[in-house]
Amino acid sequence: MHIAIVGCGINGLLTALELLEHNCTITLFDQQQAGKAASWAGGGILSPMYPWRYPKAVNDLAQYGKALYQQWNAKLQPITGIDFEIHDTGMLIFDQEDFEMGLSYAEQTRQPMQQAKILDQTHLKQINPHISDQFKQALHFPHLSNIRNPRLLKSILIYLKQHPKVQFFENTWIDQFEIQHSQIQSLKAQNGQHFQADHYVIATGSWSAHWSAQLKCSIPVKPIQGQMLLFKTPEQWLPTMCMNRVMYLIPRTDGHVVCGSSMQDLGFEHRPSLKTQQDIYQASIELVPDLEQFPIVKQWAGLRPSSPEGIPYIGQMPNFKNLWANFGHFRNGLCMAPASAVLLRELICEHAHTVDAQAYSPLRHFQANTAE
Ligand SMILES: Cc1cc2nc3c(=O)[nH]c(=O)nc-3n(C[C@H](O)[C@H](O)[C@H](O)COP(=O)(O)OP(=O)(O)OC[C@H]3O[C@@H](n4cnc5c(N)ncnc54)[C@H](O)[C@@H]3O)c2cc1C
Repeated sequence: MHIAIVGCGINGLLTALELLEHNCTITLFDQQQAGKAASWAGGGILSPMYPWRYPKAVNDLAQYGKALYQQWNAKLQPITGIDFEIHDTGMLIFDQEDFEMGLSYAEQTRQPMQQAKILDQTHLKQINPHISDQFKQALHFPHLSNIRNPRLLKSILIYLKQHPKVQFFENTWIDQFEIQHSQIQSLKAQNGQHFQADHYVIATGSWSAHWSAQLKCSIPVKPIQGQMLLFKTPEQWLPTMCMNRVMYLIPRTDGHVVCGSSMQDLGFEHRPSLKTQQDIYQASIELVPDLEQFPIVKQWAGLRPSSPEGIPYIGQMPNFKNLWANFGHFRNGLCMAPASAVLLRELICEHAHTVDAQAYSPLRHFQANTAE
């Protein structure tokens, strides 16, 4: 089977990997350089930030993230030479009002990754000596991890670009589908080129509402901007991820600490702003005052593909047998992407499903009219 995938963020790229493993031939398209949109900008926490605040459908996909990334890292690293660093730091949460809910979530879920306990200040200081003295307690998730997403994307891209069954078209905006008898016949790029495949996958993240007009359905996905800043501290300086009032610090092994993030509806604005960067800086220093002594080495903004309740659309598009969705992952696209790709491969290849496919079906929301 030949599959055309529009969008080379983590969801398009992992869909490609998953389908390649099942003997498909792949053609990938991106309007810009592959792997440079939300998937590059994100933090890489391998869990929803406060899982009890999310629907089951989000947590069901996210729970497979870490194990599947471990498998991909083991397969890709010998070929690409890149370790995308699944960093087991654990997470400290300081929002007192979430302690009880967090503990009962940890108790109910059987996932080892989501086990948690309350730490008093002495234990808290033992686990992370840099935390501000204002925090007397924390909810500790010792088994939560993060991945270094820019390296993850780099590794997947090197692997796919050397693969004889993969073709890449970057800087190619796909404008529309050529449709006949409820089947997609080909893709049309803005430069007028046509591309044919057996199946077509839309993995266009924040840009996915572009398809509403042509497919005559209403796709409720829009960009929500998130900004980040990056400190450089000594290697292994900050031992854990930290979270307070939806702001977080994510340490990488080489001492970089990613801090974020904001949430703003600004259309396709992808530049960071001074005010928001100052807010993130203040929130970071409030958590870990010693960060003040280290330089900020980078600042950026990314566009999260928001969807109602943050539940992605994965599955067949209304009215078209060979057109598939994998978009709308909002705040949790990096942790949900590996299992999203598995589910989509199961649907396209008609394999048994790992999770309840209905929960993600595009049919649940898109009001499709007759298409042609
Ligand atoms: C600041 C921030 C922090 C985040 N932190 C986390 C986190 O800690 N953990 C987590 O799990 N998630 C996190 N996320 C969310 C996560 O990054 C996203 O959900 C995920 O990256 C979405 O991936 P995607 O492949 O769907 O979209 P994208 O990465 O945006 O990729 C979509 C691609 O499609 C291309 N495209 C669009 N339309 C067309 C077209 N018509 N033709 C050709 N190409 C097209 C775009 O150029 C783009 O490259 C964060 C996001 C942000 C912004």
